[in-house]
Amino acid sequence: MDKVKISEIENSNEKTLHLDINEYIDELKADVNASLDITPLGEFVSVKGEISGNIKLTCDLCLKEYDYEFDFDIDEMYAKNSVYDEDKQEVEIKDGQFVIDLYGSDEIDIYDLLYQSVILELPNKKVCGINCKEDYFQKDDSFKVPDERMEIFKTIKIEK
Ligand SMILES: [Zn+2]
Repeated sequence: MDKVKISEIENSNEKTLHLDINEYIDELKADVNASLDITPLGEFVSVKGEISGNIKLTCDLCLKEYDYEFDFDIDEMYAKNSVYDEDKQEVEIKDGQFVIDLYGSDEIDIYDLLYQSVILELPNKKVCGINCKEDYFQKDDSFKVPDERMEIFKTIKIEK
């Protein structure tokens, strides 16, 4: 289950393709489940659904590997041809809708969609657990401001 042909969906009776996917993404060490509806809409192709699963992440603090679970909705829009092409007539796109160019391709790479979507959902700070976090911040709280030049550090807020 890697690629989906848009023209085949357009020619089908349903005009939309429902996919239930379970895919292991090697590069991410992630086990991904997805339930997607792929619907061609003229110049665009809508991909909506839910992605869940788990991934092995490396803790930023102790560098140990840990399991991280994710579960999120996606609502993506693909443009069959570049939306930046000046010759194309302008099409209104929902506010903040991220449009992925297919550059004339008839295929959507589902594996790549899952890969990119999961990466976007990962936390900026990767922490294996509450205990690891607490140890880290206790150490940090004991930090004393030694002189004026260090005053700036008092104003730094650490995201917990
Ligand atoms: Zn840790």
